[in-house]
Amino acid sequence: MSITRADTITCRCGAAQTVEVVESLNAVRHPHLRARVLDRTLHAYPCPACGAISIVEAAFLFVDLERGQLLGVHPAGSRGDADRLGRELVTIFEQRLRDHAPAFVRARARDCLVRICFGAEELREKLVADDAGVDDLALEAAKADLLATTPTLGAAGVVTLVLDEVRDDRLVLIALGLDGRPHAAVLEVERRHVDELAGRHAEILARLPALAAGPHVSLLRLGMVVPGRE
Ligand SMILES: [Zn+2]
Repeated sequence: MSITRADTITCRCGAAQTVEVVESLNAVRHPHLRARVLDRTLHAYPCPACGAISIVEAAFLFVDLERGQLLGVHPAGSRGDADRLGRELVTIFEQRLRDHAPAFVRARARDCLVRICFGAEELREKLVADDAGVDDLALEAAKADLLATTPTLGAAGVVTLVLDEVRDDRLVLIALGLDGRPHAAVLEVERRHVDELAGRHAEILARLPALAAGPHVSLLRLGMVVPGRE
């Protein structure tokens, strides 16, 4: 099952509204909540008075046993606590999906994608990549290379890239600025290039050891400026 709670949020204009906040998301039982992640409306609420969109930052567990995905989602501001939150998620995986789970759950958990992510956009990116069979460590390495070899991106204030969609043989990436908002730049990477990197994990981690730690696989581990935190 999924668990939601009601929260009252106040817009910058002063208007308050009661909204639904997910505490646990079971994507098999509640596909409409998964669809909201993909269309970027989960926890995004327009103000009834002025129309401005408020984003509710919430911590929740995303579980999809059919697709084999267990994702711990946290507010972007918790990124500094990634290693501890990662260990917590591994414990949850071991206890709920492996050690004390019925046989059919254990069978589905065998190749489960276990990841922590910060903010709804990172959750969305993990789902888009996994659904398309794109290896996330390879994707993060490709992004790091793209930022390192395209100095105009840094000069324009781009601090990271997120996967928007997989279109045929191309991966479409959106550039994010320091405030965490989408930048004008949209980049494309050949899928073939990322698939080649997927077979070279050891080489990637030798070159960029900070790119992954346990269930946390993110370009933003590389000590770059974190968007949304000025
Ligand atoms: Zn408002």
